[in-house]
Amino acid sequence: MLELLTNSVVSGLIVMAILGALSYKLHFVDVSGLISAFVVGVTVWYTGGVAAFTILLFFFLASGVATKFKYKAKAKQNLAQEGKGKRSWRNVFGSGFIPMMFSIGIYIFNPMGPFNLTSDPFMSFAMFGGFVGSVATTTADTLASEIGVFSKSKPRLITNLRRKVPRGTIGAVSLLGEGVAILAGVMIGIVAIFFALFAPAMIPVYTYEQFIIIFPLSVLTALIGCNLDSLFGAVLQNRFVCEICGAITDKEFHCDYETKYVGGFRSFTNTYVNFGSSGMGATLGILLGAGLFVWILGGLFFWILVSSSN
Ligand SMILES: [Zn+2]
Repeated sequence: MLELLTNSVVSGLIVMAILGALSYKLHFVDVSGLISAFVVGVTVWYTGGVAAFTILLFFFLASGVATKFKYKAKAKQNLAQEGKGKRSWRNVFGSGFIPMMFSIGIYIFNPMGPFNLTSDPFMSFAMFGGFVGSVATTTADTLASEIGVFSKSKPRLITNLRRKVPRGTIGAVSLLGEGVAILAGVMIGIVAIFFALFAPAMIPVYTYEQFIIIFPLSVLTALIGCNLDSLFGAVLQNRFVCEICGAITDKEFHCDYETKYVGGFRSFTNTYVNFGSSGMGATLGILLGAGLFVWILGGLFFWILVSSSN
């Protein structure tokens, strides 16, 4: 009975029906978002296991709450998500597609799974590293953007840390946002550690080394992935300037007036940025899972040094 409940299509459908109804009621998603969240949720439940599903669920609930957090105050300053904060299928697949692919990877390479591709526990764990990396990146990015806008001090531009910019500027970073990003990684790391300790059969962590790696992997992918997202945004995303308040935004209307296009790739919207950083977060998760901590920390240190000195 427990077996049936923890790993089957039926239980996945039941869990997702309950969660779907709840998140629709709470206005986290619109109808298209609900359907796509259902597809992603059931797939991850069935292929990635309960731990992977719980990590994705944490992202979903935390970003839903963070988006609703002081929504009116954010809307007043043009900092809020459109559509009253309801996520559509674009948002859901933008943040859920890559984790879903890695979840399927966990299933395919499971050393005890149905395919018998490999008995080496590394591949399945590497897929889990990619999964955690992409979810941590997206969670950190969403929470940092939704909560970071309440930073008391003015944010700075990620491509030039000496330059202060108005709140909501694409590529703006703040200490509050960075703190929230780290916290998101810590939370995901705690979920993973919890499962590894108390329900090891539900998480693709097989060895002691993997158990040691999983927490720092969550925190680092959240922090680095979130900043990569800001960097991508600042360099590639379509940008508009508000001629009233001077903010650089991705919105075509700001301060009740139409904004002016100033740069970035015209059709490169925030959805593409999120998709790209989710993929980068996944890559990072795999690399960290393979034990390349020293190189990645060294690269991060070098980047902070370079970007704060020009
Ligand atoms: Zn404005």
